[in-house]
Amino acid sequence: MEAGGNLLASLDYSVLQQCMHCGLCLPTCPTYVETGRERNSPRGRIALMRAVADGELAVRRAFGEEMYYCLGCLACTSACPAGVDYAQLFETARAEVERAGVLERPQRDAIRWFTLRLLFTRPRLLRLAGRLIWLWQASGLQGLVRRLGLIRLLSARWAELEGQTPGMSRRNSDALIAAEEHPAGRPSRYRVAVLTGCVQDLAFAELNRATVDVLLANDCEVHTPRRQSCCGSLHAHNGDEGTAALLARRQIDAIDPFAYDAIISNAGGCGFHLRHYDRLLANDAAYAERAREWSRKLKDVHEWLVEIGFRRPQNTGAAPLTVTYHESCHLCHGERVSRQPREILQSIPGLELREAREANWCCGSAGIYNLTHPSTAQWLQGRKLGHLQATGADWVATGNPGCHLQLEAGARAGGSALKVTHPVALLAAAYAAEKRTIPGMSPSGMTRQS
Ligand code: SF4
Ligand code: SF4
Repeated sequence: MEAGGNLLASLDYSVLQQCMHCGLCLPTCPTYVETGRERNSPRGRIALMRAVADGELAVRRAFGEEMYYCLGCLACTSACPAGVDYAQLFETARAEVERAGVLERPQRDAIRWFTLRLLFTRPRLLRLAGRLIWLWQASGLQGLVRRLGLIRLLSARWAELEGQTPGMSRRNSDALIAAEEHPAGRPSRYRVAVLTGCVQDLAFAELNRATVDVLLANDCEVHTPRRQSCCGSLHAHNGDEGTAALLARRQIDAIDPFAYDAIISNAGGCGFHLRHYDRLLANDAAYAERAREWSRKLKDVHEWLVEIGFRRPQNTGAAPLTVTYHESCHLCHGERVSRQPREILQSIPGLELREAREANWCCGSAGIYNLTHPSTAQWLQGRKLGHLQATGADWVATGNPGCHLQLEAGARAGGSALKVTHPVALLAAAYAAEKRTIPGMSPSGMTRQS
C-alpha cells in the first residue's frame, strides 16, 4: 500500500502524532491485560496505525485482526494524559481494513451484508425480525428447543449464539409512547426529542416508556418521532462509514435539531456516536449545519436530567434496594458521563449504591464483539460479574442495552440472582411509587418485560 493511499494517511497528522508512548493506558486496556503483548495495547496499535499512515507497513490480515481484536472500549482515552483521540484512530483504522479487504471471507462478507447493509438499514425489516423472535419466545418454542438441547445437536457455537438472543418486548416503543406528550397539568419548560434506538426499541421498549415518563415528570414536552432509523454506530465501529453517514442523514431528516432544546439518548453505545454526527457529516454541504446543531443538542438522558436539576423522588417507604452500577464504556469513556447516573441512583430513597471494582471496565459486549471474539468476551463477562456479585447488591444498573444483555446473559449462565436494570428505569419506578397517577407508568418499569 502506498503512503497517502489509505484512510489513515488522510487523517490530520496531529491525531496520529499525539501518542507520546508513556504507557499509562496499558493497565486499563483489557486486551493488553489479557495477553501482556505490546501489539495488543493502545500504544502498540497506535504505532501500527502510524506506520500504515506513513507507508512503512502494508495493510494485511494481521493488521486487520489486530484492529478487530481491540474492543473499541476507549478506556485508553480516559487514561491518556496526551488526549489521544483513539476513537477517531480506531474507526479510521477499521474503515481502512474494510477498504483494503484484507479480512474478506464469504461467510464474514455475508454476515456483514445481512446485518450492516440489510437489517440495520431497514427499520421495518428489523422490527419484523423482532416480532418473529418475540413469537418464537412467547410461544414457548425457544424454551422447548433449549430444554431439549436441539440447537446444541447442530453446533455448540450456534447454541451459544442462541443463548444470547435478547428477550423481545411484547410491544415496540411506538405502541407505548405517543408521538407527542406533555407534562400533566402544568406548562413544560423544555422541548425534547427522544431517540428510541434499534435494540432498545426491540428489547427494551418499556425503558423507552420509562425515559419519557421521567422526562415528563421533569417538565419536558416529549416528542418521539416515528420515522427513526438506526443511528449508525454499529456501522461506524465496524468500518462502514458510508452507511453510517447515510443513517445519520436519515436521523437528521426525521428529527430537526433546531426544533428542540435537547435530543435524548438513553443508550451509551449509541450516544457517543450520535454526538459525532458533526464530524461524520462535516463535508456534506446539505447536512453539515444541521449535524453541528444535532451534536450540540445531543444529550445522554442522565446528563440532561442532572443539567436541568431533576426532581428528587420523595420517600414513600418503599422496600430498600441494593444496587451496583456498571459503566457503559462509551457512556463513561466516550461521552464522559459517569457522575450523573450515580447522582440519579443516589437520589432514590431507600436505594443503597454499592460501588464495584473495575466498574468502568468493559463487560465484553462491545457492539458485536461478544459474537466475533467469544473467548475474550466471556473472560471479560466473568471478570465483570465476579466484581458485581462481590458487592452483594441485588441489582446492577447500566445505561446501555448491549451491556444489559451481556450482564443478563452472564448472570443467567452462571445461575446468579443478580438482576439488571437502567438507572432511569429505577428513577421512573421511584416516581411511580411516589405518585401512582403518573400516566402510563407502572412499578414494573423497573426492569424490561420480555
Ligand atoms: S479501545 Fe479498549 S481494547 Fe482498544 S486499545 Fe483502547 S483500551 Fe484497549
Ligand atoms: S496513555 Fe496516551 S500517550 Fe501514553 S501511551 Fe497510551 S495512548 Fe500514548
